[in-house]
Amino acid sequence: MPELPEVETVRRTLNQLVKGKTIESVTVHLPRILQRPAEAELFDAILQGQTIRNVERRGKFLRIVLDSTVLVSHLRMEGRYGVYPAGEPLEKHTHVVFHFTDGTELRYKDVRQFGTMHLFTPGEEFLLPPLHKLGLEPLGEEFTYEAFAAKLRGRTTKIKPFLLNQEHIVGIGNIYVDEALHLAGIHPEREAGSLKKAETERLYQAIITTLSEAVEAGGSSIKSYVNGQGEMGMFQHQLKVYGRKSEACYQCGSVIEKTVVGGRGTHYCAQCQPLKHKRARKD
Ligand SMILES: [Zn+2]
Repeated sequence: MPELPEVETVRRTLNQLVKGKTIESVTVHLPRILQRPAEAELFDAILQGQTIRNVERRGKFLRIVLDSTVLVSHLRMEGRYGVYPAGEPLEKHTHVVFHFTDGTELRYKDVRQFGTMHLFTPGEEFLLPPLHKLGLEPLGEEFTYEAFAAKLRGRTTKIKPFLLNQEHIVGIGNIYVDEALHLAGIHPEREAGSLKKAETERLYQAIITTLSEAVEAGGSSIKSYVNGQGEMGMFQHQLKVYGRKSEACYQCGSVIEKTVVGGRGTHYCAQCQPLKHKRARKD
């Protein structure tokens, strides 16, 4: 699933490709992608004649801002956007086509069909699902050390599932949570509220550093992720623990371990990320 850096890369690419274009009509080949409104005719009617003013992002959601409506789009597992000339044959799994007045089309392709699209009047999108309960934007101004520390205070959840919960902080998924915890030297099973001030500061910085560097690299190409222009992200070459089970830790040479935390496959270095109070082991 694309995480913040990948969605941010798609956002930037889409802005270059479709900003200023006016929608003539929309063809929906798979109505289940539409959540609000659910009817293809209504979806098309609302978007007709609307010009794309900007493509923004909230967490892992794209916010395509038009004249008097906002399209909130989630790519989920494998959703992808691409811009094509109108005459070009449709590729397989193309579910929604936005026809522009200039003879080009924005096409939404999704092999897994889990992606979603919602339309709102501007501002309304923040008051309703799926955006209304989203937490701090980690690359936004609101993500201060104080705000982050306040979120952690008193929490008994393990730090990894805590960071994956989009109601606390948005945009971090399974790849970047493992990377950020490794960079901060924090074990993924530490209780969120048990982090000392120095650890909280390290983790706060590690989240910003990891996500920023990944955005710089255009995200990671894990499995099938490709950004809005069909280019592969390069951050997978900078990953320190994710996908490196049994390989040597770059920092200490120990073997990277893989375990399951909160139901998710988790990579970490037991040497660099010790659990403070080690449980007694049976021999
Ligand atoms: Zn290590």
